[in-house]
Amino acid sequence: MIDTGPALRRVIGACGGETPGPLVVCVAGIHGNEPAGVHALRRLFAMLARQRPPLRGRFVGLAGNLGALHAGIRYRDEDLNRVWTPERIDALRRGEHGTQGPEAREQLELLEALDSELGRAEGPVHFLDLHTTSAAGQPFACIGDTLRNRDFALRLPVPILLGIEEQLDGALLEYLGERGAVTLGFEAGQHAAPSSVEHHEALAGLALAEAGCLDESHLPEAQAWRRHLEAATAGTPRVLEIRHRHPVAPEDGFHMEPGFRNFQRVRRGQLLARDRRGEIRSPESAMVVLPLYQKKGDDGFFLARPVRPLWLRLSRVLRRLGLERLAPLLPGVRRHPTRAEALLVETGVARFLARQVFHLLGYRKLRSEHGCMLVARRREH
Ligand SMILES: [Zn+2]
Repeated sequence: MIDTGPALRRVIGACGGETPGPLVVCVAGIHGNEPAGVHALRRLFAMLARQRPPLRGRFVGLAGNLGALHAGIRYRDEDLNRVWTPERIDALRRGEHGTQGPEAREQLELLEALDSELGRAEGPVHFLDLHTTSAAGQPFACIGDTLRNRDFALRLPVPILLGIEEQLDGALLEYLGERGAVTLGFEAGQHAAPSSVEHHEALAGLALAEAGCLDESHLPEAQAWRRHLEAATAGTPRVLEIRHRHPVAPEDGFHMEPGFRNFQRVRRGQLLARDRRGEIRSPESAMVVLPLYQKKGDDGFFLARPVRPLWLRLSRVLRRLGLERLAPLLPGVRRHPTRAEALLVETGVARFLARQVFHLLGYRKLRSEHGCMLVARRREH
């Protein structure tokens, strides 16, 4: 049982709504063993209630997996951050998909709360998903690589990791991105570390200002929050991308070697973990991200590398020019027979290079299909 304080409800707090402006929605604790975001949002709403700064638009904090938060576990039957696929949501809305399961009920409630907020939004929508990690290490943001998400994340003083969403299916962040929101996931540090609560509070407070709900001059804490996050993330590259994911299944008996932190540098061939097949060594020199030090979870670890500023500028130019429309003309590329936004890419040539080219153009890899790589354009670039 985790102490989440007074009776925890779906809506942690809500304020504003009198003056038109952006909508900022924060979800905390979509993983029930990550209550730091809940504590941080309570503190932030209490502060806003005391100080009553003039707010444009609306700010809402929602609790994610209430049942799992009460039990202090990541989830009960299903990971609530892997169930936001369009097919599942359609079925859920029609009452078809096993709505008896605990996570299906949580999802339906959360969906109704989100629908109601998005339905009355009068300005741009910003969505923050607050997480913590089983490993220690510096806080960081995860975004789907669209120019709007990048611009928003770059205004916040934390490292930005690209490409996680490409590795995961059914994340809430991606679902709301497809519904038109500017989205950002934030990993604030280790689950139980008091500093994780502080990082979440600082990040959510600054995001509220950067989204346009508040002027920083009305937030006495803003400068201290910036300095705090800058100090907590010093020395980490500004933008990184995922290069490799090590998936795990429960029967693998996966065990990370002790002592790895987020963004720790590793050499090619270095021992990272073991499972029942033996040793798992790093396939390349890179930085370890999200090493798994808890029982539940299907990502053993990720490897990331810094992204060069030139690459970021180049992809901005290419997308602004709309060059992604020419992608079907590239050799080995054809349109998907049924999905208008998707392409099939023959990956025989150079898999990593092919993926990089499509990233530049604002596509994301969905999966491999019939020996081809299926990529899709995001709704926003
Ligand atoms: Zn999480």
